[in-house]
Amino acid sequence: MRVLIVEDEPKISDLIAAVLEGEGFICEVAQDGEEGWFLGSTETYVAAILDIGLPKLDGLTVLKNWRNERVNMPVILLTARSSWNERVAGIDAGADDYLGKPFQMEELVARLRALLRRAGGQKSTLLEAGEVRLDLKRVQVTRAGRPIKLTPLEYRLLAYVMHNPNRVISQSELAENIYSRDQEPDSNALEVLVGRLRRKLGGDIIETRRGFGYVFTRHET
Ligand code: CA
Repeated sequence: MRVLIVEDEPKISDLIAAVLEGEGFICEVAQDGEEGWFLGSTETYVAAILDIGLPKLDGLTVLKNWRNERVNMPVILLTARSSWNERVAGIDAGADDYLGKPFQMEELVARLRALLRRAGGQKSTLLEAGEVRLDLKRVQVTRAGRPIKLTPLEYRLLAYVMHNPNRVISQSELAENIYSRDQEPDSNALEVLVGRLRRKLGGDIIETRRGFGYVFTRHET
């Protein structure tokens, strides 16, 4: 599985490549936007990791060019940590996910894996963990074959954690991904929501790491 890394800082691209190669990926690095655009258009990759700030051609333009050319590989955009407008522009340009710099390599790997699962065809619309099954296409949750009624908020929470298994998800990350902009939840509301989901789905499906956030554990089969 080949991954394209478009990043002009050799320290970062070398590190990403080393980590991903340790995870079984093969990496190709482009150091500027023009080279990245060219490689992405002419070669086949399972995914691309694309920095926004690049020499010759910025990452957003590279991404727009790819999408105009029907290059559909999943793309993770590397953005400035605090820049929400970069993230919005990135998603508008066709990014599948983004990571604010600096980031943890573990998170990059986890997000890449999640993207590949989602991009992986048939199986990607069905998330399973033990008895719980979430059908993304039909927006339906079952437990041991029986339908479970969830509110839209509960569903979004469950889908988000099931897409991001086996890593700590902070309360702010979770809130950012399940609430709309005009809702301002406090941490207590989130805890209550998680508690309700636990009762509906049974037991320890979402674990609380006090002070850090939540972990959804899924054992690979
Ligand atoms: Ca850069």
